[in-house]
Amino acid sequence: MRLPIVTLSTQERWSCHQCGICCRGSLVPLDDADLQRLAGQKWEEHPDFKGIAVTTKLSLGANRRRLAHRDDGSCVFLQNDGLCRIHAELGFDAKPKICRVFPLQLIPRDKDIALTIRRACPSAAADLGASVDDHLPWMRKMVEEGKLFPSAAPAPIFKQGEKRDWKIVRVLLNAVSELLRDERYPPVRRLVHAIRLAELLHRAKTASLSDAKVEELIATICTLVYEEAKPYFSERAAPNASARILFRSMASDYARLHPKYRAKKGMGERIKLFRNAISIFRGRGALPDLKPALPAGSYEDLEHALGRIDPSIDLPLARMIETTSASYMYAIADRGHWSIIESVLGLAATFPVGLWLLRWSSIGREPTEKDMLDIVVALERGQGATQLTGKVQRSRLRTLASSGELARLVVWYAA
Ligand code: SF4
Repeated sequence: MRLPIVTLSTQERWSCHQCGICCRGSLVPLDDADLQRLAGQKWEEHPDFKGIAVTTKLSLGANRRRLAHRDDGSCVFLQNDGLCRIHAELGFDAKPKICRVFPLQLIPRDKDIALTIRRACPSAAADLGASVDDHLPWMRKMVEEGKLFPSAAPAPIFKQGEKRDWKIVRVLLNAVSELLRDERYPPVRRLVHAIRLAELLHRAKTASLSDAKVEELIATICTLVYEEAKPYFSERAAPNASARILFRSMASDYARLHPKYRAKKGMGERIKLFRNAISIFRGRGALPDLKPALPAGSYEDLEHALGRIDPSIDLPLARMIETTSASYMYAIADRGHWSIIESVLGLAATFPVGLWLLRWSSIGREPTEKDMLDIVVALERGQGATQLTGKVQRSRLRTLASSGELARLVVWYAA
């Protein structure tokens, strides 16, 4: 049965402004049809690709593959004129599926497919251009012509070690989305509500409960989170030292996904990474050299209060969290065995990371909306980055949440 394609109730916008960022530093996973198509194109026989692999493992030890990058992180098919080699030589339909539609994205769910945009594109992060509804007929045509094959997705894991079907999974995803869109509260408060929901549900012994009882429990917790969140604001306290170490190492991983950062390789880089690990631990000393993406400075520079900033600067970050939760993308994204609880924590963590990176971007000056748009691109790229979707990141999030420190980090870096 073909599922209907729907757009979100909140309007999203995007048109391509040809910045070329999507061909630099992005990971493009390939499915079997993409791999077959690329193999048939025989790039290994092309004089410009002799000895150059056009695909590589998605991550160390993974079975899936992605498009290969050059040393500077750009796609192996990106030409000097900014165009795609596959498109230029063989046409639009010859490209991998993701490249054909990016940043539009279809999120297959149980009863429908959500059409949304990936904010890893700066124009999408800024909601610039045509409404996503305007792109709907084209996406429908792509599906009808068999160029995209979305099919109903299995329900994401409810809790660690606990699988439930879509009916109850949808209840939880909608509860999270409603908390995150509750306009009676500022975004920081909404995130603490969602974190408390995730933490309380994680602690509850639900394995033997029926779906009806779990639904009741979710509804009850949703009424409790408002009181639960209050002490984080009335007794605002600095996160403890261990939480700050975990947070800095997570935020540094996101910093390397900044669209202006060009990855470097070699022994010199490995030594710098080692030195940076020491600074992350101490919370003192020079920040890693990520120029021109981010300015030079020290870890101490990122601990000052942000003060009041123009709401237009916060907006792209708030929009990313809102639309990612409304589409369920944060929970359905391909991250192996993450549960919804872990995905909620991961989404919430992007908020303090975003504001920490905003402090870094604007060392010595006032932050701007452009700073935040680049940061949102980095945060969105984290959805598919190995270092932020693997065991290390899950363990960071679980440790932060179990001690209540994730909510504390959210509140601490918001101000
Ligand atoms: S990142 Fe967005 S605006 Fe830039 S080239 Fe890609 S699709 Fe176009």
